Amino acid sequence: MEYLIIVVAVLAVLAIVTGAVFFVRPRRRGPGRAAPPAPPAPGQAGPAEASGATAVAPTLPPVTGPAGPPTVEEAPTPLAGRMVRLRGRLARSQSAFGAVLLGLLSRDALDDRAWEEVEDTLLAADLGVGPSRQLVDELRTQVKVEGAQGTEAVRALLRADLVNAIGADQDRALHIGPHGDRPAVVLVVGVNGTGKTTACGKLARALIGEGRSVLLGAADTFRAAAADQLQTWGQRVGARVVRSDREGADPASVAFEAVREGIEERVDTVIVDTAGRLHTKAGLMDELGKIKRVIEKRATVDEVLLVLDATTGQNGLRQARVFAEAVDITGIILTKLDGTAKGGIVVAVQRELGVPVKLVGLGEGPDDLAPFDPGTFVDAILGG
Ligand code: GDP
Repeated sequence: MEYLIIVVAVLAVLAIVTGAVFFVRPRRRGPGRAAPPAPPAPGQAGPAEASGATAVAPTLPPVTGPAGPPTVEEAPTPLAGRMVRLRGRLARSQSAFGAVLLGLLSRDALDDRAWEEVEDTLLAADLGVGPSRQLVDELRTQVKVEGAQGTEAVRALLRADLVNAIGADQDRALHIGPHGDRPAVVLVVGVNGTGKTTACGKLARALIGEGRSVLLGAADTFRAAAADQLQTWGQRVGARVVRSDREGADPASVAFEAVREGIEERVDTVIVDTAGRLHTKAGLMDELGKIKRVIEKRATVDEVLLVLDATTGQNGLRQARVFAEAVDITGIILTKLDGTAKGGIVVAVQRELGVPVKLVGLGEGPDDLAPFDPGTFVDAILGG
C-alpha cells in the first residue's frame, strides 16, 4: 500500500512538473515572425490627437490576416545587388519575350516581314509605339552597317539598344539624405491595389536594414484596412506608425503629424502612404497637393514615388498620367514585374512620365523590392 502511495505521488509530481514546463515555456514565434520593436520613448505620442492623428505604439502584430505580408525573421538583404539576386524572377517572366526577339533576329535573311515581327514583339511587350519603332530602326541600321550576323553579334546589338532605350545613365538613386535635424520625407502615391502599402513596408525594412530609422505615416485614411496593413508592416520591420483612429480623417493632418513626430523623434526618414482612390483628377490634385503643402511647412518632400502595377499595361499608364498631373513625381516603383512578360512597360512609363523607374517589385516577399538596374534587367530578358 505504502509502495502504491509513493508511486502515485511520484507520478503526480511528474505530471505537475511537465504541465508547468509546458505552460511556462514562452510561446515560440511562428517561423519568420519578427520580434516586436522596442516601444517608443515616453512622451512620444505628443499632441497627435489635436490633429486627429494618433501615434500607434507597436505591440505584437496581429497574427497574419490575408492582407498581411509574409512573416519575417531574418535581417533584410542589402538593397544593392538585390536585382541580381532576384534575376531568376525576371528571367521567368521576361525571357519568353527575349527568346522571340533573339529567334527572329538570328534568322539568316532579315527581310521587311522579319523586322515587322520584331516590332510587333516589342509592341506586345508594352514598349510603346514610338520606342518600338525607334529601336527597330536603330537595330536595322546597325545590322546593315556592321553586317552583324549570328546570334551573339545580334544579341550584343540588341542588348545595347534595349539598355539605351531604358536609359543607362538616368539618376535612379533615392534622394533621402538627411537635412540637418530634419528627416527625409518620401511620399508614396498610386492607385489602390498597385502594391503601395507593401512597397512602403518593404522600403522601410530595407532602409532600417541599412541602419536608418524610419517612421511610417498612414495617410490613406479612407480604408481602415490600409492603415492596419501598414501597421502590421511597421510592427514587423520595427518602424512606428502614425495613423488616425478615425476612418475618413483628413489625410493631410495625418501626414503632417507623421512628419512632426518624425522631426521630434529625430528619425532619418518618414515614409507617407497615401490613398489611391481614382476619383476626379481635381479631387486627387487637391488631396495630394494639400498633403505635400502641409508636409512642406515642416520638412522637405524629397521623393514622390508613384507605384505602378506592371501587369496593368496601358490602363496603368493612363492612371499614372492622372497622378503625374496631380503631383510632381520624382520616381516610379514598378511592382509585380515578376508577374508579367511585358517588361517593355519600363520604357513606356518612363517616357510617359519623364521620370526614372527607381525601384521594382519582384514578388510578395519582404525583400522583393530592388533598385532598378537596366543592365541586369536586359540580361534577364535576353538570358545572358
Ligand atoms: P495598395 O492597395 O496599393 O496599398 O496595394 P497592396 O500593398 O495592398 O498590394 C496589393 C497586392 O499586391 C498584395 O497582395 C501584395 O502582396 C501584392 N504585391 C505587391 N507588390 C508585389 C510584387 O512586386 N509582386 C507580386 N507578385 N505581388 C505584389
